[in-house]
Amino acid sequence: MSKIELLRCNKCFKYTLKHECDICSSKTESPKPAKYSPHDPYGKWRLKYKTSFKGNEI
Ligand SMILES: [Zn+2]
Repeated sequence: MSKIELLRCNKCFKYTLKHECDICSSKTESPKPAKYSPHDPYGKWRLKYKTSFKGNEI
């Protein structure tokens, strides 16, 4: 009850503390730490993807 959890909208990827997104009203989820693992093959893919869109970062 006292713990503040950072949540994220799966649609617009905005971080919020609410359980509903301010923008699209979708349910938000807490981002999973495993996604940031350097051993995650999808992380590698995302890096490549991000690189190909340089200058388009948030
Ligand atoms: Zn949203």
